[in-house]
Amino acid sequence: MTRLILHPDRLFPPDEATRAIARRLHDTVRDLPLISPHGHTDPAWFALNQPFANPAELLIVPDHYVFRMLYSQGVPMESLGIPRRDGGPVESDPRKIWRTFAEHYRLFRGTPSRLWLDWVFVEVFGLDQRLTAENADEFYDAIDAALKQPDFRPRALFERFNIEALATTESPLDPLDHHRAIRESGWSGRVISAYRPDSVIDPENPAFAANLRRFGEISGEDVGSWQGYLRAHENRRAFFREAGATSTDHGHPTAFTTDLPLAEAEALYATILSGDFTAADAELFRGQMLTEMARMSIDDEMVMQIHPGVFRSHNEAIFERFGRDMGADMPVAGEYVRALKPLLDRFGNEPAFSLILFTIDETVYSRELAPLAGHYPCLKLGPPWWFHDSPEGMRRFREQTTETAGFYNTVGFNDDTRAFLSIPARHDVARRMDCAFLARLVAEHRLDEDEAIETAVELVTHQPTTAFKL
Ligand SMILES: [Zn+2]
Repeated sequence: MTRLILHPDRLFPPDEATRAIARRLHDTVRDLPLISPHGHTDPAWFALNQPFANPAELLIVPDHYVFRMLYSQGVPMESLGIPRRDGGPVESDPRKIWRTFAEHYRLFRGTPSRLWLDWVFVEVFGLDQRLTAENADEFYDAIDAALKQPDFRPRALFERFNIEALATTESPLDPLDHHRAIRESGWSGRVISAYRPDSVIDPENPAFAANLRRFGEISGEDVGSWQGYLRAHENRRAFFREAGATSTDHGHPTAFTTDLPLAEAEALYATILSGDFTAADAELFRGQMLTEMARMSIDDEMVMQIHPGVFRSHNEAIFERFGRDMGADMPVAGEYVRALKPLLDRFGNEPAFSLILFTIDETVYSRELAPLAGHYPCLKLGPPWWFHDSPEGMRRFREQTTETAGFYNTVGFNDDTRAFLSIPARHDVARRMDCAFLARLVAEHRLDEDEAIETAVELVTHQPTTAFKL
């Protein structure tokens, strides 16, 4: 057996002088509360506060970062307990799923998943060996026993993780019952929603027509007309706002926007409603809706986020068998300068407007996103996202954006995860990488250490709270 130790200098620069600065910076931010303004945890966990079921269902089955790596090495998804759409047989013994995972743990060497999982083993469960096929059962039993203790229920972990605010993400069709239950429970944890209307904005979503019917019902508006459809959004946004939401989020295929005259927007909506539309009509509609969402953001002051550029469910066979969110989403090349111009022409200088941009095409950081955010007062850059939520991705982000956007056009870290236990681990990586980057600026005599300390602190306090209006 090999001891598992989280080295206090992990991710810091290897040279002694810079590392010493990084350590000092990190000392000032290490214990500050976690702010999680964008993510995908399940509000039911905090509303009901039930124990998590077992190690496999907590750490493997819901985490596409984990199971897609095993799939990429030929491990069938069925053997990892991933539910099939046709209800066909999949592994149902969580211990067997855990063993399969442990046998393949070496696949995560050098990946952020390995950093996060090791952190969870050590810091959450007090395990002190490296996970192997041989000690898989020992890990399983220890984690399973812990999960039955009151200290490992969702609310207790939320408090232990020192989370100051946590945003989940819901569709406009969600009645937000769990959020209401959390608020009415008297528990002090702050869990808010975010308005994610893709399911009623993307005409190419297979459930779009059904979603639209439900959207009309839940909002009490007649979505048969363009004006009624826009009122339905305003209505649901107000409902989310009352429930504490401070942001909207838009997962479009591209960042394309447009600003059509009213008559053209009405005609386009009629075409979309008819079901007889082209791919170009669908893209035009999504682009018009980003501009409409920006307009509504100015009225209700919700911060707007765009997470574009993902080719969803790239693997047809996996989609057929298991559905969406199966680790088969792929980045595509992005473009923002031309795509956002119609929206920015209309709202780019509005003091009340705030738009946070994300990308998984890193080539746009220095060429497009940092220059845009370094000019338009409404624009901020979201942190490295998804594939680049890694030490290397964070380093590249600062190296490519700081020259033009500085630190203060960025919004701090988002863990953007449904893997609740990994949230502190992800923030830990982000804090260390920002301290490492700032330490280099100090070592190169480009920044005084007191300024680096102030920046490191603001990146985990002031930047996320102001950018997301928390
Ligand atoms: Zn997200």
